[in-house]
Amino acid sequence: MPYHIILDGVMVVAYFFIAAQLSKNNLTLNSSIPYKMLAGGLAGAFSLLLWMFVPGVQEVDLSLYHLPFLIIVLFGGGGSLIGAMTIFLGGLSINLGWAIITEPSVYFLMGCCFFLPILNRKINNIWNRWMFSITLVTVLSYFFDYSRYAEQDSTPFWVFAVLSIVTGSFTIYLILHVHRSRNAFTELERKNQILSEQHEEILLRQSELSLTKQKFQTVVESVKEVIFQTNREGKIVFLNAAWEELTFFKVEDSLNKHYFYYVVPEERTNNIRKISKLIAEKQARTRMEIKFYNKKHEVLWMELNISFSYDSDGNLLGTFGTMTDITERHKSEQILSKTLKELEDIKFAMDESVVVMVTDPKGVILKVNDLFCSISGYTKDELIGKPQQFLNSGYHLQSFYQTMWETLNRKEVWRGELRNKSKNGSYYWVNAVIVPLVDEAGEIHQFVTIQSNITKRKLAEQKLVEANDLLLKLSSVDGLTGINNRRSFDERIAFEWDKGFIAQTSLSAILLDVDHFKLYNDHYGHQQGDDCLKKVARLMVRELPRSSDFGARYGGEEFVILLPDTGLLEATSIAEEIRKGILSLQIEHEKSKVSPMITASLGVASIIPSEDASAKKLLENADKALYIAKRNGRNRVESYTEEKTSTIDVNERIMERVVVKDPVQEYINLLHSEDTHTWEHSNRVAHYAILLAKELGVSEKEREKLYLTALLHDIGKLDIPQSILRKASRLTEEEYTIIKQHPILGAEKLQRHGEFPFKKEILEGVLYHHERWNGSGYPHRLKEKEIPLNARLLGIVDSFSAMTEERVYKKGIPTEKALFEIHSQMNLLYDPELVQAFLRAMKTSIPEQQVRKLSG
Ligand code: GH3
Ligand code: MG
Ligand code: MG
Repeated sequence: MPYHIILDGVMVVAYFFIAAQLSKNNLTLNSSIPYKMLAGGLAGAFSLLLWMFVPGVQEVDLSLYHLPFLIIVLFGGGGSLIGAMTIFLGGLSINLGWAIITEPSVYFLMGCCFFLPILNRKINNIWNRWMFSITLVTVLSYFFDYSRYAEQDSTPFWVFAVLSIVTGSFTIYLILHVHRSRNAFTELERKNQILSEQHEEILLRQSELSLTKQKFQTVVESVKEVIFQTNREGKIVFLNAAWEELTFFKVEDSLNKHYFYYVVPEERTNNIRKISKLIAEKQARTRMEIKFYNKKHEVLWMELNISFSYDSDGNLLGTFGTMTDITERHKSEQILSKTLKELEDIKFAMDESVVVMVTDPKGVILKVNDLFCSISGYTKDELIGKPQQFLNSGYHLQSFYQTMWETLNRKEVWRGELRNKSKNGSYYWVNAVIVPLVDEAGEIHQFVTIQSNITKRKLAEQKLVEANDLLLKLSSVDGLTGINNRRSFDERIAFEWDKGFIAQTSLSAILLDVDHFKLYNDHYGHQQGDDCLKKVARLMVRELPRSSDFGARYGGEEFVILLPDTGLLEATSIAEEIRKGILSLQIEHEKSKVSPMITASLGVASIIPSEDASAKKLLENADKALYIAKRNGRNRVESYTEEKTSTIDVNERIMERVVVKDPVQEYINLLHSEDTHTWEHSNRVAHYAILLAKELGVSEKEREKLYLTALLHDIGKLDIPQSILRKASRLTEEEYTIIKQHPILGAEKLQRHGEFPFKKEILEGVLYHHERWNGSGYPHRLKEKEIPLNARLLGIVDSFSAMTEERVYKKGIPTEKALFEIHSQMNLLYDPELVQAFLRAMKTSIPEQQVRKLSG
C-alpha cells in the first residue's frame, strides 16, 4: 500500500512543525544545559512509551532506543523528539510493511548528526536549519534506496515521483535561500562589524567630546570677559558667568533677550546702523565700544569683539564674541585727556603771559618761549645753547648766585628777583621761579625757569624808595618814638648855638643812654624793646619844663636834650628828675646788672657859645660825662667838668665794653653798693692804671686784666670794719695790722670761687699791690721783680690816688706834689722804670735839680 509514503511526508511535516515550535520556545543549541536535559528527558520517556505500547516498534533495531540520549547531548530537546518519532515510525513501517519509511528515518538521523553542526554555523535561523537537513536527508534516502526497496514496496511510482519533485524543489529553494541568506548574513556581519567599529569610534569621540566640552565650559566660565552668542535676530543665546558678575543681570534672565535691551538708549539707533552695515558688507569680525547699563542702571563701557557667522548663502546665522569691561580704562582715559587739555591750556596761558626758559643742569639754555625772546631782545637761535649767565647784568653779587645754585642743587625750588641785561644793553627785572626737574634716578635733568616781567614794578619801587628817603630826610619826627629826630636836633642845636652866642647865655645838653638795653632786647625781644624806647621817650619830653627845651632821639637807645639859657646845675637837676622818672616807670628789666627795672645813665654838659667852642664840643662833653656815669655804675647823672674828665680818652670807652663775668662783676657791684669810698678810689686807681699801661704800650687784653684787677684791688676791705677804715684819728698799731690784712682777705675771697677769666692775674694784683721794691711791703715782703708787674704798677697808682684823694683823716695833696713824692721814693718803694713811665703818662717831668730843691 502506497500510503506509507504519504505518511512519511506527513511525518516530515510534523517533525518540521514540532522542531519549529520547540525552537520558538527557545530550545536551541544555545539553550542552557538543564533546559536541554529536561527536554531530552521528556523526549526519551515519550520514545520509551512508544516502543513499549505501539505494536511492532519492538522490532526496530534496538540501537535506536539510545539515539534520543545521544541527541539530547548534541542538540537538546528537539533532537530527542526527532529520535522518538523515528523509533515510532520505524515500528509503524514494519507493521505496514513499508520498509522504506524506516530506512530514511535512520539516514535522516545520521544526516542530522552530520550536517547540523555545519549548518548551525552557517544558518542562523533554526527554522531553515531543521527544514534543510530534514528535506535533504529524506530526498537523498529516497534516491539512493528506491531501487532497493521498490521490489518489496508497493508505493506507486508517481507518489514517489511527486514526493521527490516536491522535496527536490523545496531543497533547491532552500539551497538558494540558504545561499542568499548566507550572503545576506555575511553582508550583515560585515556591516555589523563596521557598525560596531563605528560605534566604538563614536563612543570614543563622545567621551573626547564630553571632555572637551567640560574643559571648554570651565574655561568659558572662568574667564573675566563676557562670552556671548546671539542668534540671527540678535537675541542672546549664550552668556558665561562673567556676565552676571559684570552687569548683575542673571544669565538665565538675559537669555533670549535682544542684546539692544542692555545698550544705553541714546546709542541704540547708532549701534543698529553700524552693525547692520557690517553684516551687509559680510564682515567676519569687528571691535567696538558700546555703553551698557548694568542692573543698577550705571553705565558700563564695554569693548566688544564680535565674530559674525553666515550660511553658504551669506545669511547671518548669529554672532559670537567677547565683552570686556573698560569703564575704568575709559574713565582714566577721560581724565588723562582732560588733564592733557588742561595742560595744553596752561601751557598756552603760560606762553602768553610768562617768560619761560628751560636749561640743562649746567644752565645751558635748551628752550625759551616767544615772550622770553621779546623781553630779552634775542632770537631763539641766539639764546639756545648759550649759558644762562650770559643774560646776567652784573647787578647781583657772586654770593647771590651762589645761594641760588646751592638751593637748586639741593633740588629745591628757588624764587627771587633777577635783574637781567637785554640784547640792546638795557636792564629788565624778572620775578623768577626756578624749578629743578628730577629724573627717575633722582638726578636733576633740567631747570625750568618761569619769569614774569616786573621791570615796571621795580622802577616804581625804586622811585618809592627814593621818595621815602626824601620824605624821611625832610621829616623831623622819629618814626619809632614820635619825638624829634636826629635831623631836627642838628638843626635846632645850630640855631640855639647862634642864639646863645649872641646872647652869651649858657646852652646845656643832656645825653641819655638806656642801661644794658642790649640785654633787654636779647631777653624781651625787639618788639618789647621798641615799646620800652617809646615809654622812655615820652617820659623824657614830659619832664622838660619849658617849651624851648628840646628833646630828641639821638639814635638807637640814646636820647638828647637841649636846654637853652640853662646852666650846668639846673641842667643836672633836670637830668636827675628824668633819671628818677625812668626808674619810676617800673619797666621790668630782669637782666640788668644795675637794677631790676629799666634805668638810664645821663651825661650833662654846659657851655657858653664862643668862637673857641662849638656845638660839637658841647655834645662831646656831654658824651664824656655820660661815659663817666656809665663807668661809675650807671643809673646816675654825671655832669661834665674839666677836672673829672681831664684824663678821659675817648678810646677808653673800649673798657666800658669789657665783658665782666661773675664773680668779678659780683664784687664790682658789691663794692659799688657797699663801700662808695673804696669804689670811687678803685675807679680812680683803674683809671690811672690804664693811663700808665697805655704809656707802657701794654696790649689791650692785658689792659683789660689790669682794669679789672684795679677795680678789685681793695676788695679785701669789704671785710675790714668801716670804723677802722673811716677812722678820723690816728690808727693804733693793732688797727693798722688789721688793715694790712686786706690784700690776703681779698685774695682769699676770690680764691674761694672756681675758675673765672683772669683769675690768676687778678689774684696776684690783689695780693701783692702793697709789696714794695725794697722788700718793705706786705704781706710777703717780696722784692723788686719778684713782685708781679701788675702789682708793682698798682702799687704806684694806688699810692698816687691815695695821696691825692681827700679822706676823713686827711686832705688830698695836689697832683704835682704827689707825683714828686712818688718820684722821690723810686728805687726805694717803687719800680723806677714804672715811675718814669707814670710821670710821662701824667705829662710831668721832674728835673733832677728840682728834686733836690724840693727835697731840700
Ligand atoms: P649800656 O648800659 O652800656 O648802654 O649797654 P647797652 O646794652 O644799652 O649798650 P649797647 O650800645 O651795647 O647796645 C644798645 C642796644 O640798643 C643795641 C640795640 O640792640 C639796641 N637798640 C638800638 N636801637 C634800637 C631800636 O630802635 N629798637 C630796639 N628795640 N633796640 C634798639
Ligand atoms: Mg648806647
Ligand atoms: Mg645803653
